[in-house]
Amino acid sequence: MDWDRLYASRMRDVVASDIRERMKLLAAKQLIHLGGGLPDPDIFPYEAIAAASNRIWADRAVARTALQYAPSEGYGPLRAWIAAYMTGLGAPCAVDNILITNGSQQGLDFVAKLLLSPGDRAMVEIPSFIGALRAFDAYQPTYVGLPGGNPTDVKFCYAGPDFRNPTGTTMTLAEREALLDMADASGMAILEDGCYERLRYDGAPLPSLIALACARRGSVEAAPVLYTGTFSKMVAPSLRIGWIAGPAAVIRKLVLIKQASDLATSALSQMLLLDVVEAHLEETIATACAVYRERRDSMLAALAEHMPHGVRWSRPEGGLYIWIELPEQIDATVLTQRALEEQGVSAIAGAAFYPRGIAAERNTLRLSFSMIPTEPAREGVYRLGALTREMLQS
Ligand code: PMP
Repeated sequence: MDWDRLYASRMRDVVASDIRERMKLLAAKQLIHLGGGLPDPDIFPYEAIAAASNRIWADRAVARTALQYAPSEGYGPLRAWIAAYMTGLGAPCAVDNILITNGSQQGLDFVAKLLLSPGDRAMVEIPSFIGALRAFDAYQPTYVGLPGGNPTDVKFCYAGPDFRNPTGTTMTLAEREALLDMADASGMAILEDGCYERLRYDGAPLPSLIALACARRGSVEAAPVLYTGTFSKMVAPSLRIGWIAGPAAVIRKLVLIKQASDLATSALSQMLLLDVVEAHLEETIATACAVYRERRDSMLAALAEHMPHGVRWSRPEGGLYIWIELPEQIDATVLTQRALEEQGVSAIAGAAFYPRGIAAERNTLRLSFSMIPTEPAREGVYRLGALTREMLQS
């Protein structure tokens, strides 16, 4: 059977993610894992989830709802809770402004499905979250880079303003305002990835793009922004609960996509999650921030101690990632391969985070400090530093 002949043209540019491939390797080996940005399972709220689960099974009427199909828009009380949460973050939303998705990854896919025909222009930050690029690839856009790209005829600009994946950097208020000005002038939409907004370890929070747009335009209905949010990093990713916030008319269109794609997100997951966040969200965020803050500080200290002269890195105020710029003569793909095979350390070469058609910087590296305790992480940085020094000398 010749399957290659049958694949749709949209699959032409869809390739396996280097990170996912490495995660498979991880399962097999004892590695010092500075690669993928998984949350630490030690901080998941096990007791709260168990208690929520018990409450569902204790009441047959509640249990029936939990095992039935949920509405495609999402479980009403959770939508209402998220609308209030978004309002608290400065973007006044009603229930109709929220669609529950199966993680925010599904939100990124749906927005691209809604807006992109083959050949349309999509603006993305350079570099960008690899999962977003892979989701967009299937709709065959032409990529335009931010900053510097021309917004003419761009359908949307994908941006992660806070502690972005992969660089860990944050947009200043002036950069946020400038992006909104660009959207106002060009008519393009903004797809804001709010994945890490609440994982801030120091400094004052900045308003999200959707909050700034609501303030400019008077309401979310007139804002040019679609915001994807997620509980994956604040509670637990396996519940697969994310959301899209935006104008009600756009949300209605996205509901049609949701129906055609998977009918609805699990009612059980949504009810569990709602029970947990109603009582414990701020607590789970505080726990995550305390753990990750310490790991970030420790990794930054290890980099200062072990990296040779000429290596530079970002100093994230939140999120899970540090972006490393190596001296230009070092190819990070070679370095990460050698680190994995010779040193048992996983890290991701920055080239993975560049969209197709836009040249990648070969000397960049993403490290994540989320997954492992400070001591093995310091050892991992030490080994990466030694390997970098060796490659510089050869
Ligand atoms: N956006 C960003 C920037 C991410 O890093 C991730 C996952 N690491 C996601 C979205 C998707 O996460 P989820 O589908 O679990 O919400």
